[in-house]
Amino acid sequence: MTKKKPHISALSEQHGVSDSEITNEAALDKLKLKRQKQPSVVELVQEILKGNISSLSRAITLIESKNPSHYKTASDIIKACLPYANKSIRVGITGVPGVGKSTFIESFGKYLSQKGNKIAVLAIDPSSSISKGSILGDKTRMEDLVKDNNVFIRPSPSGDTLGGVARKTRETIILCEAAGFDTIIIETVGVGQSETAVNDMVDFFLLLKLAGAGDELQGIKRGIIEMADLIAINKADGSNLKASKLAKVEFNRALHLYPKKESEWQPKVLLCSALKNDGIDSIWNAISDYLTLTKANNYFSKRRQDQNKFWLLQSIKDKLHTDFFENTVIKKALKEQLLLIEKNQTTPFAAANYLLNLKKEL
Ligand code: GDP
Repeated sequence: MTKKKPHISALSEQHGVSDSEITNEAALDKLKLKRQKQPSVVELVQEILKGNISSLSRAITLIESKNPSHYKTASDIIKACLPYANKSIRVGITGVPGVGKSTFIESFGKYLSQKGNKIAVLAIDPSSSISKGSILGDKTRMEDLVKDNNVFIRPSPSGDTLGGVARKTRETIILCEAAGFDTIIIETVGVGQSETAVNDMVDFFLLLKLAGAGDELQGIKRGIIEMADLIAINKADGSNLKASKLAKVEFNRALHLYPKKESEWQPKVLLCSALKNDGIDSIWNAISDYLTLTKANNYFSKRRQDQNKFWLLQSIKDKLHTDFFENTVIKKALKEQLLLIEKNQTTPFAAANYLLNLKKEL
């Protein structure tokens, strides 16, 4: 095996390339060139503020990077962008696979773009951490929208925990807002956990549903309905229209059983057909009404402040969690303690104390 030269190692670490690449002199030259061309934080931020999409993408890549040498740069960029962020409406969209989320976002995105809005579409995809795929990974799902100059689509970072993805998405929102995007759409699949994370970073939560045969309320987690500011029954077209109208009545009835929201907003149920671009304007009008109400009663800014406080605490928890569980000494000691528990030679409480004390001493 070829031995790495020290300067090559430094470069490889910085750019995260493979062994074979760094032993190749041509690749090394390319890396040097790449290094020379790296813009400074100030340059990157200036370009982001001008709405330069490649600089925005580059900065998001730094946020998503697992290379520790990028952490400080990413954090400096976010800090510099913060004063220019916040001026947007953040909309979370969820629904089970197949309900028509991509089709809806395509239709909704085009509608808003025609109105002159600038839209960023991001995703929180818990499945991507397992499959390394992503709900937005397959951009063919939003073919037209990808080509729209007013629209920026960024798939969920893969190979990360939900907590990691959520933090990166939140930071990405800040950069997108600084780049001038006024409508941030965050897509997630309707499977539970990720909805809560999305709800904690958006102003408005939209649940897409289908009219089903029989019990309309089956299969919907109460928590998700409770979060929704609007339920849109999609595929309300053709032979499905009648069932959709019935579902609307049922959902409306169900929504009235929930306690009044702190926002004072009464959640709505609307019909739409993402495929035929029907009902999209009513959905946007409802979102606009929500904004008018919550900005007038100050709920809008209070909620964003609450979310910031929540994310501060969450970030501390995430960091403590990673520092502890990713520590190699702890990993080994944890395995040993688990074995002792199996053999009834220690108690969970004693084992936890032992491990926490061990971490303190490291
Ligand atoms: P997702 O998995 O939630 O993103 O769903 P997709 O957007 O990929 O849509 C799933 C399927 O439903 C596709 O075949 C779409 O063409 C179809 N679809 C989406 N919206 C509508 C709609 O409003 N009406 C009808 N009839 N089909 C739709």
